[in-house]
Amino acid sequence: MKALVAVKRVVDYNVKVRVKSDNTGVDTANVKMSMNPFDEIAIEEAVRLKEKGIVTEIIAVSCGVTQCTETLRTAMAIGADRAILVETSEELQPLAVAKLLKALVDKEQPGLVFLGKQAIDDDCNQTGQMLAALGDLPQATFASKVEVADGKASVTREVDGGLETISITLPAVITVDLRLNEPRYVTLPNIMKAKKKQLDIFKPEDLGVDVTSRIKTLKVSEPPKRSAGIKVADVATLVEKLKNEAKVIA
Ligand code: AMP
Repeated sequence: MKALVAVKRVVDYNVKVRVKSDNTGVDTANVKMSMNPFDEIAIEEAVRLKEKGIVTEIIAVSCGVTQCTETLRTAMAIGADRAILVETSEELQPLAVAKLLKALVDKEQPGLVFLGKQAIDDDCNQTGQMLAALGDLPQATFASKVEVADGKASVTREVDGGLETISITLPAVITVDLRLNEPRYVTLPNIMKAKKKQLDIFKPEDLGVDVTSRIKTLKVSEPPKRSAGIKVADVATLVEKLKNEAKVIA
């Protein structure tokens, strides 16, 4: 069974993002970019399933600019067997990515499609759900445990009230949450091996997908600055301030 894993190139989670001076977006020039952390977990899960003999081939997919090949090489260093870049300089929104992934699912016929639960740059949490809808595939989102057997996946999901375990028939879409696993470190020999692995490049047109944006960003701005905190002398003063200044208690 093949596993297809979507990996997005995003601003590294350690970088403090800055809004561009013209308020059109976030400044990404000369900023460290990395694989979306949830997607590292998705690749790791696919690799673990391959190590268990359940998955036979892992295909990493990224959609975006040429530099996404770096993200794909990292995915292959973690353990993906080959990679596909859908190359475009258009700014991609979740629906466009879901359509591209759907075209690749039709082409590759994977039994499992892993995505991160959300990309840390847009925080959309939409692509996996949209892909499942477009492909008419069962979906399990926010996975914190995945067990695959007999053409089914038993997936434990992190939901508001605690944990929910569902059984879905494969092929299916699974979006992964933080506690599913801890991704392995990429070793130098594996980075070297990854350089030789197959990486195919398509354009959205090759897959028959129109990626034109349907959403227009009007303005991006910094959150309002927080005013400095104060120290209060004792509990009585704290209660008095919460009551009369902040007015959060009666
Ligand atoms: P989002 O819906 O934007 O929060 O993204 C959820 C997940 O969809 C990510 O964790 C990735 O697995 C996948 N994804 C989103 N955008 C891309 C992209 N441009 N290339 C590859 N995968 C993506």
